[in-house]
Amino acid sequence: MIGAVDIGGTKIAAGIVDEEGRILCRLDSPTEPERGFEHGLSRIAAMLREASRCAGTPISGIGIGCTGPVDPFTGIVGKVDFLPGWEGGNLVDGLRREFPVPVAVENDADAAALGEAAWGSGRGKRHFIYVTISTGIGGGIILDGKLYRGVDGSHPEIGHHVIDSAGPLCFCGAHGCWERLASGPAMAEWFRSQLRPDDPSPAALDARDICDRAVRGDELCLKAVEREAFYLGLGLANLVTLFTPDAIALGGGVMKSAHLFLESARGVIRQNCGLVPFEKTELLLASLGPDTALAGAARAWSHRFGQDKSWS
Ligand SMILES: [Zn+2]
Repeated sequence: MIGAVDIGGTKIAAGIVDEEGRILCRLDSPTEPERGFEHGLSRIAAMLREASRCAGTPISGIGIGCTGPVDPFTGIVGKVDFLPGWEGGNLVDGLRREFPVPVAVENDADAAALGEAAWGSGRGKRHFIYVTISTGIGGGIILDGKLYRGVDGSHPEIGHHVIDSAGPLCFCGAHGCWERLASGPAMAEWFRSQLRPDDPSPAALDARDICDRAVRGDELCLKAVEREAFYLGLGLANLVTLFTPDAIALGGGVMKSAHLFLESARGVIRQNCGLVPFEKTELLLASLGPDTALAGAARAWSHRFGQDKSWS
């Protein structure tokens, strides 16, 4: 039984996950990063103890998925915009002081990819990419069943590869990266930019509203959907050309309306992946849903320390 922790900018979740990826007990708490790293750490420890009590089982390991740059080997939190005051804090050492068990930390998108690969739509896929499309775009790459890491264990930021260098500026410093063109907020921003002053459509629609209205036939919303599918498809086409994976699984809020995008996105892949066997790459929807983050955090532990070495 693994104690799993998902650390996001606004919320921390903790739970107990069994060896099949089932979540036995789950607790949530606001992150409150302004109260500092030590405060966050002691809350995580308290949540894990409570989850262990509620599931009626001791914890044999702790897996953590953490937003932003985090060193997977030392457990040190890097510079994360959403976690001011946590930079330099050591999650592994901090939790090892409280629990005498091995602790594994991964970037949250990598953890989600590991969870989806083990227990979700990536099950049995040797080369697998998980992409989440919501307020941002992130993901993890599994090659030969093993999480791909870059230099010094760094996490590749697939959401920030450049699709259109003439596109809008992203906070990362690049212009027109995938996230800036195909995330939910990018869709809403484009929609707003197209409204005429006399247009009756409310300016504050988010991606979900736009999708709902597109289903009802709203012309501008249909254009926003078409544009989203195009940029989603371009980013996916790049992943297919670069990695030719067995499968790519798509998750995140925007993919709740996947039926609006996938056919066109597949068309973009067909058009742009002429040199690789793109038709063999399955385009799937992620299947763990709200369990992804905690299941992924637990899987990050077994990927690092578990008995199943066939995939690691
Ligand atoms: Zn960017």
